[in-house]
Amino acid sequence: MSEFKKPQPSPTAWTQSFWQNCASERLMLLRCSTCSAHHLPTRRVCSCGAINFDAVESVGLGEIISYTEVHRAPDPAFKAELPYVIAIIELQEGVRLMSNIIQSEAKDLGIGKKVQCVFETLDETLGVPKFKLIKD
Ligand SMILES: [Zn+2]
Repeated sequence: MSEFKKPQPSPTAWTQSFWQNCASERLMLLRCSTCSAHHLPTRRVCSCGAINFDAVESVGLGEIISYTEVHRAPDPAFKAELPYVIAIIELQEGVRLMSNIIQSEAKDLGIGKKVQCVFETLDETLGVPKFKLIKD
């Protein structure tokens, strides 16, 4: 049987520092220097039209906007993790991202539930932001 590996992020020159900061457990965002809107690092132009951003660290807190529990692996590499949760998270800064909710059972999740960022470190240059439920 051949060994399957989960796909990993493919950093670009534009996103490399984001993934590297995640390896250091820092979730970095871009903040527009004109209107202060926050964005993920893939953004090059703000919705206000500005192109200048400051790098800022997210507080790592947010809420679940949507989620689903996966029971059938899309690839054999994911089989060992079944079932797992994929969610859209809105950070307090207003940025939405797709990630996993870990260390929780789907029955405990819900729209609007509060989550905090935790990191899965793949190597010294590559970390992935994941989220876990904040207990009430
Ligand atoms: Zn802006």
